[in-house]
Amino acid sequence: AAPLKMNVPQPECLQKPLNVPSKLLMGPGPSNSPLRVHYAMMKPLLGHLHPEFTQIMDEVKEGLRYIFQTKAEVVCCVSGTGHAGMETTMCNLLEPGDVILIAQNGIWGERAADMARRHDADVRIIDKPGDTFTLEELDAALAQHKPAVLFMVQGESSTGVLQPLEGAGALCRKHGALLAVDCVASLGGVPFYMDGWDIDVVYTGTQKVISAPPSMAPIAFNDRAMAKVRSRKTPIRSFYSDMTWLANYWGCDGTPRKYHHTGPISAVYALREALAIVCEEGLESLWSRHKACAKKLHEGLGALGLEMYVSDPNKRTPTVSTIRVPEGVDWTRVTKYFMSNYLVEISGGLGPSAGKVWRVGLMGYNCTPENVDLVLRIMKEALADATGKSQ
Ligand code: PMP
Repeated sequence: AAPLKMNVPQPECLQKPLNVPSKLLMGPGPSNSPLRVHYAMMKPLLGHLHPEFTQIMDEVKEGLRYIFQTKAEVVCCVSGTGHAGMETTMCNLLEPGDVILIAQNGIWGERAADMARRHDADVRIIDKPGDTFTLEELDAALAQHKPAVLFMVQGESSTGVLQPLEGAGALCRKHGALLAVDCVASLGGVPFYMDGWDIDVVYTGTQKVISAPPSMAPIAFNDRAMAKVRSRKTPIRSFYSDMTWLANYWGCDGTPRKYHHTGPISAVYALREALAIVCEEGLESLWSRHKACAKKLHEGLGALGLEMYVSDPNKRTPTVSTIRVPEGVDWTRVTKYFMSNYLVEISGGLGPSAGKVWRVGLMGYNCTPENVDLVLRIMKEALADATGKSQ
């Protein structure tokens, strides 16, 4: 037979040089990474079970225990972004028919509900878009729905809300539920105590306050959560996200590591360095830096005549600020002004805040008073451009 003809030639676009402009990422994520993190990714590759690599994984685990404030055994990473952490939480904790209560105050509760339904869970929602839940509200909802799991989002990056978590874990214990928390957009920027607040499952992302590239979802399951996973009547529906496998690969179950999947080697180096930087600064300093920069930003925006979407300053996450788009202003013109004139990213709203807000991220490496000043200066110019008036 005649040899097959290739019907796809080499793409022309790959003959051109890689084009990566250097942008300042002041949106809700990813944020920029320090050079030390980029350099870490240039180190030679190792095998995913080589002792030098598993040593680095162990160092990452120690860094994660610090940033989550937990002594839990099962602390590891899912290879995938924040969504992979959410999916792993749902598919391990939920069996068909299990009730999950979702405290929804933005798009991330909606996503969690979508994922939970795919696992045939019985999803109950309490909804307060752009607001926080009180302990009384949580207590009443837990009593009414008697869920196996309560899911909450600490930093709601779509609405800019910071959900207080203290006391929620104790309520879950009282009602026999597990508490799972998404802190993708908040961890490192605000206090978080997994053990101190009785949180059973937590996950985050690498590309926000930690300031490593998007690549992994650090995740922790405490003993109560692992007991639920280990006593399941039905198999976990995802092999890739199976916490018993992940715990083994990350050396958390006391048995020799087995091949589960090929860890993203260079991304683990990057995370190791990003966590080292977090540890060098210390969490308390990181938390107060975020608080001070967010305050400076909010005051500066107020001086420009802008209002925050979350009116109560105590209910705002310092990591992602949501700014109301004034009546008559085309929000896209402002975001485009930032990008085309300064290569600075700020973004529009998402979910309940779509079309209503701009979102400015102040996270990790990018959370500096200088960047706040820059964003304020460009915002002033952009508003003048969008309204035809100087501010
Ligand atoms: N949860 C929250 C609170 C987030 O802000 C994000 C990312 N914006 C995610 C989950 C999903 O993370 P990723 O985009 O890394 O999958």
